[in-house]
Amino acid sequence: MTRTKSDLIADRKRLLGPNVATFYDDPVHIVKGEGVWLWDADGRKYLDCYNNVPVVGHCNARVVDAIARQSATLNTHTRYLHDGILDYAEALTDTLDDSLNTALLTCTGSEANDVALRMAEAVTGKRGIIATDATYHGNTALVSQLSKSNVPTVGFGLDQYFRFVDAPDSYRNPDPDGTKFAAAVAEQIAAHEASGTGFAALVVCPYFLNEGFPNHPDGWLKPTAKVVRDAGGFLICDEVQSGFGRTGTHLWAHEKMGVVPDVLTLGKPMANGHPVGGLVTSAETMAAFRSGYRYFNTFGGNPVSSAAALAVLREIQERDLVENARVVGEHAQARLRDLMAKYDVIGDVRGSGLIFGAEMVTDRATKEPASAYTDRVINAMRQEGFILSKLGRHKNALKIRPPLVFSVDNADMLFDGLDTVLRDTPRE
Ligand code: PMP
Repeated sequence: MTRTKSDLIADRKRLLGPNVATFYDDPVHIVKGEGVWLWDADGRKYLDCYNNVPVVGHCNARVVDAIARQSATLNTHTRYLHDGILDYAEALTDTLDDSLNTALLTCTGSEANDVALRMAEAVTGKRGIIATDATYHGNTALVSQLSKSNVPTVGFGLDQYFRFVDAPDSYRNPDPDGTKFAAAVAEQIAAHEASGTGFAALVVCPYFLNEGFPNHPDGWLKPTAKVVRDAGGFLICDEVQSGFGRTGTHLWAHEKMGVVPDVLTLGKPMANGHPVGGLVTSAETMAAFRSGYRYFNTFGGNPVSSAAALAVLREIQERDLVENARVVGEHAQARLRDLMAKYDVIGDVRGSGLIFGAEMVTDRATKEPASAYTDRVINAMRQEGFILSKLGRHKNALKIRPPLVFSVDNADMLFDGLDTVLRDTPRE
């Protein structure tokens, strides 16, 4: 069945219910992708400056081939012996600190975080969790409690176990050495202990992508990790967004931030769009979790998923896409700074590798967020053929997070387009 755009919008509402979000005032009907390019149903081409899931490019030939070949051979679950999950677990753990040597595969990042919280409980014997107040870690009953801006009204009364700290914000509330953040975490640890819940874990994205990717020097999380360890808690690093080379300096953002997590959770780009998530931890933590609970995930780590995930990791490694992210990201930020010199609506430019963006303000002195203007810019960019988005507490930061195969030429095209849109989009 081929629906018109208005039929698609109406049928989504009828068949999927209300509140199923789309991007843009004029949603895009995408029908094809290749590399960094997307095509809509009218054959119009868009530069994808946003999607991190197709990390090695839309419809990457190596990943497509791995999925097709394994699908044509066998797909089953992990209760049979198979090389696939082991080859992947070995390749993945080889990229990590020696203590992160045991993996568990899921289908989503939400499940991975859900298991990570239960691992913290299994090892510490406590349940108090801390997160930032402007993040997202997933949608299970347990981890949806971590999204302070969108805590579900139904959720089995779990909110007693969750406490929050202000999300770091290098633009409005600088904390150059991470000690303010560490002190805020210490305060919430004390509150958990005082309430009788006890402190089990801090969960953070080490590059704070959902919070608006504040500019922090390398090693910034060290004081926080110390506070967490001194209190006997777990440091859970959610690298669903920041992992697999996104920041361009390291394969993993926790390395950049100078820490080794107790549990590392993964998702989104892990298999280029095939639903794979997972976590890596120490053998002891895995044993503590698995001895208390016979965890099984029907689809997690199946031969097709494992083949897809291995193809993605090898593609990142063999094409040196982390280095590409660094080179293109540096060029992109230089271009953004040129635009900042030209347009005073840009108050701050930040990022690392292929996560970068600009914070838009109505006044550089007061830093008043230009949230409505940012929305108009995103929508105008979509009309010009550029897919990007916004994020941050005030939804006024341009969020640019393309596949890691994004090139310097692609970045030039994007910023030429942004220059035109900033010139032509009225402020009021
Ligand atoms: N953690 C982070 C940091 C995320 O951004 C997301 C998804 N946006 C998730 C976890 C949840 O992943 P999933 O949608 O695969 O459950």
